[in-house]
Amino acid sequence: MASIDCYVLDVGQGMGNFIAIYDDAGTLTNTILVDFGTEGSTKKPEPALKLVVSLLKTMAQPTIDVLLVSHTDKDHHNMLPKLLAAFGVYDPDHPARNTLVVKEVMFGGSMANVTESFYTELVKYMPVGEEPDSFTAHFSSFPYNSGFGPINPFIIVGNVQIYMMMGNLWAMPDRGEFEGGEWAAETGEGYNKNTVSMVLLVRANNSAFVLTGDATGQTIAACNYMIAKMRQFFTFVEVATVPHHGSSSSAFDLKSLTGIDPQQNIVDFAKYIDPYSLVASAEKHGSWDHPALSVLELFWKANRVHSQALYNEYDYFHPFTSWIKKRTLRYPLGQGWPAHEGRYTAFTQTGTYTTLYGFNTPPAADIWPPQMRPINPPPPAIWRPYGVTWKFHVDRGGRVSLTRESSRDTPTAELLDRLAAPPVPPVPVGPPAGAARPRRLRAFP
Ligand SMILES: [Zn+2]
Repeated sequence: MASIDCYVLDVGQGMGNFIAIYDDAGTLTNTILVDFGTEGSTKKPEPALKLVVSLLKTMAQPTIDVLLVSHTDKDHHNMLPKLLAAFGVYDPDHPARNTLVVKEVMFGGSMANVTESFYTELVKYMPVGEEPDSFTAHFSSFPYNSGFGPINPFIIVGNVQIYMMMGNLWAMPDRGEFEGGEWAAETGEGYNKNTVSMVLLVRANNSAFVLTGDATGQTIAACNYMIAKMRQFFTFVEVATVPHHGSSSSAFDLKSLTGIDPQQNIVDFAKYIDPYSLVASAEKHGSWDHPALSVLELFWKANRVHSQALYNEYDYFHPFTSWIKKRTLRYPLGQGWPAHEGRYTAFTQTGTYTTLYGFNTPPAADIWPPQMRPINPPPPAIWRPYGVTWKFHVDRGGRVSLTRESSRDTPTAELLDRLAAPPVPPVPVGPPAGAARPRRLRAFP
């Protein structure tokens, strides 16, 4: 196994992570898909769909070794029917590039939320006798009930190991049995449906990714409980997805879980996993304000996201999009910025990467968080947003590079120009310009 690519797909308001595993000759040998869905029109993710299909079609027998659906909200799985429809059902005796096999499927939460027609279709693409699986209640790869003994990944594909930090948190018959925590009983359908989300640690080539699905404050608290005892597992996290698309309401909502400060809960998580960078979808859909700057800022308190999660040409300032809420601001108001609640694209020198750019930039002012700068000159009033798919490439030695693959729209030259040019010299919170990024030398535990 030579290298892996982890794609954070541009799916609009939704989630899709595709992991491609290559051999030494550069041939795609194995794939893993974690979520693939969107809210609203399923047209927005069409370019991402095309990308996944074209990658799979480079295989003599297109194969998804493992499909994981973090939970059953449609923005995490409703692109799967289109993906299946792009291929014929495979025949084990006759491998063909225009057919697909999905070897293993696992859903977080209750599969009662999955339509029967989709389920039936999915099973057709699986090996004979196989069916999608679910998990036991509050499932974790970390054996928290037995003194944290040996730890095994719950899935291995090639050189990729996947660990479940927490999954199916709500499905437990009695949350009280969860050691060390007073877990809530049923807390309302929407919240529970997200709380079951799988939170995954994906490790390969001395590097790791944390995929959080739509984890809520409760899920994060459960993960913190695990990680606090398993910190040696989290020394190499390259990228984390922001839980629940960066929703502030569910991140800060602990329901009846008491004794934990909601914001500290997120800060603890960020510090425990200590990612070099963060990714989030940033789509306007309905009244959802994703990702909230108030959530991103808490992640920025983790040392590495704050200072140096930067790659090749994305050094120092690069654009990102977030929702800035007046009531959560800790900056003095009345000084120009941010005067208005809204979704803004601005520059940041943290390792924060979103899948959409092109909303208004906040007006320039003298009050800015140190991690952000305005885009200057400001973009025109009508600034056509464009979506991007991010590709994190991990080579055999664990070195990571980042590529921004324009996915949904073709950006105008003017927009690219605005997005490419750092508006101001970097403020010195990261390493000096041109300095080699520090590499981690310790081997995996
Ligand atoms: Zn979601």
